Amino acid sequence: LKDEVDRMERLSLVGQMAASITHEIRNPMAVIRGFIQLLNERSQADQQSYFRIVLDELDRANAIINDFLSLAQNRIIEKEPANLNVLLNDLVPLIWADANMRGQIVDLRLCEDMDVLQVNSKEMKQLILNLSRNGMEAMNDKGVLRIETLNFKDTVQLRVIDNGVGISQEKLERLFEPFYTTKMNGTGLGLALCLSIVERHNGKIHVESTVGEGTTFVVSFCKPGRHCW
Ligand code: ADP
Ligand code: MG
Repeated sequence: LKDEVDRMERLSLVGQMAASITHEIRNPMAVIRGFIQLLNERSQADQQSYFRIVLDELDRANAIINDFLSLAQNRIIEKEPANLNVLLNDLVPLIWADANMRGQIVDLRLCEDMDVLQVNSKEMKQLILNLSRNGMEAMNDKGVLRIETLNFKDTVQLRVIDNGVGISQEKLERLFEPFYTTKMNGTGLGLALCLSIVERHNGKIHVESTVGEGTTFVVSFCKPGRHCW
């Protein structure tokens, strides 16, 4: 028990430090971004590509800070009753617009009469968005992103399915490691964050993938009052 208490104290200390450091870094970065944006608007066309790179890199650093903060805080979250379908419907316009820009299609298959779960809606939306983005980023402009909800035994499942590049066995083993990324401008924190969100909700996440065919992420949540694992 003492070890567990020590661990929790360390975690909350790390979380507090992360919060104050990210706050201190975010502010100067926002100022830098503002001025670069201004310079960009006033610059010659041939200089604008350089400013664009600086802006993109600032945005990337900001994305890392945001993801890292959510990961490090690992705080006790507040949960409220929610239906996965309702959360998904809130996100559909966002996901749809993203897919549309990539020339991709979203195929939403929501199961009727879903059980209500105890969730933190903000985290749950972050989970759905991260998985959807990864799916879209793995596909070309002929991609179809399928998002399903279903009742399966004592669990409620969310499935995010893409017909993209797929994931090799050696990559599969490292997928949830913080900072593991194969993308030029990836943070490698998306799936680490997904895993911690799923764990905070007493759920399970697993992946099935075939190289060249696509990938399915399955997230399972235990229905209230049932024993699942
Ligand atoms: P990021 O997206 O920033 O790279 P993630 O933690 O979200 O970080 O994902 C880590 C890595 O896992 C990705 O760089 C990619 O190689 C792989 N990956 C995740 N989702 C998929 C997917 N749906 N299809 C193929 N590869 C994926
Ligand atoms: Mg990602």
